[in-house]
Amino acid sequence: MAKRDYYEILEVDRNASETDIKKAYRKMALKFHPDKNPDDKKAEDMFKEAAEAYEVLSNQDKRARYDRYGHEGVGGASGAGGFGGGMSMDDIFSQFGDIFGGAFGGFGGQSQRGRRVNKGSNLRVKVRLNLQEIALGVEKKIKVNKYVSCKHCSGTGAESGTAYSTCSSCHGSGHVTRVTNTFLGQMQTTSTCPTCGGEGRSITRQCVDCHGNGIVREEDIITLNIPAGVAEGMQLSVSGKGNAGARSGVPGDLIVLVEEEKHPELERDGNNLLHNLFISIVDAAIGTQIEVPTIDGKARLKISPGTQPGKILRLKGKGLPSINSYGNGDLLVNVNVWIPKELNKEEKRILESLKDADNFKPNPTAAERSYFDRMKEFFS
Ligand SMILES: [Zn+2]
Ligand SMILES: [Zn+2]
Repeated sequence: MAKRDYYEILEVDRNASETDIKKAYRKMALKFHPDKNPDDKKAEDMFKEAAEAYEVLSNQDKRARYDRYGHEGVGGASGAGGFGGGMSMDDIFSQFGDIFGGAFGGFGGQSQRGRRVNKGSNLRVKVRLNLQEIALGVEKKIKVNKYVSCKHCSGTGAESGTAYSTCSSCHGSGHVTRVTNTFLGQMQTTSTCPTCGGEGRSITRQCVDCHGNGIVREEDIITLNIPAGVAEGMQLSVSGKGNAGARSGVPGDLIVLVEEEKHPELERDGNNLLHNLFISIVDAAIGTQIEVPTIDGKARLKISPGTQPGKILRLKGKGLPSINSYGNGDLLVNVNVWIPKELNKEEKRILESLKDADNFKPNPTAAERSYFDRMKEFFS
């Protein structure tokens, strides 16, 4: 007897979704469950057939191979009686842990293969950086309170000289199979062993320092190497530097959240820095040399005679480095011309004498008139 088509067995079409296939299998498994069909050889065969079909179609890889090469592709061209897939009734029942989940009796139902290794939780810290630290990258030492491996028992949780004993509930496998009575009869589910939490072993005498956890809370100094170019809100992850895992487990990660300190004179825009510069009418008209703040001190800047307010002066490469590429941003200096808010008699007289001077009448070029040309200059 030739094998039946897997899609046909589950009564789904060839492009059925994962969920459809799962649903269809549930239906078949319930219908042909041996407990519901005692001593019915035909039902048992259908039950096995459905399990084999599900085993292949629920696995992306196997399903693709089956679609391409048929039964040969998944290693089972023999007759149905031979049950080439090699699934025993036990295999089928353990599959139920995954597919039926907590539907029957609520064990949480996750079938666990092998022993569980405890993973420590991630440790989250904030680090506050000023622009100079961001520009150059910095090594920061921070104090944290975290779980570390217990020194008294070397992290095992067992009092010195005390060995582990194999868990008596699961005999070391870390999972237990239980039989429950449902409306269909008996069902087996596999779940994490509640006695040992899936570790497969228990401690005969607990460590007095950590009470068997293998970890204790301690203050620790962590050295962080912050790369140049980080920004507010960025998260850096340092693998294995988080909380230690219980009983010889693996540590979690350290997650570093970057906070940026505000600079009094420089504002950040991506990798560029912006500075708002104010000069007097006199300096704008006559021209001068002026100092502007940068990340590493001051830079001298030439103000040409006749500099208009709104002019952007660019100091190339004086911005911040990029975290994932080469090169620095620029320092953009926005020139404002300061108009005096009060004048004394003498100042007023001098300005009034210039009231009708031709050079003091606005006479912008076309480019200076155009808002967009000014913006183009800004972004060039
Ligand atoms: Zn200990
Ligand atoms: Zn156990």
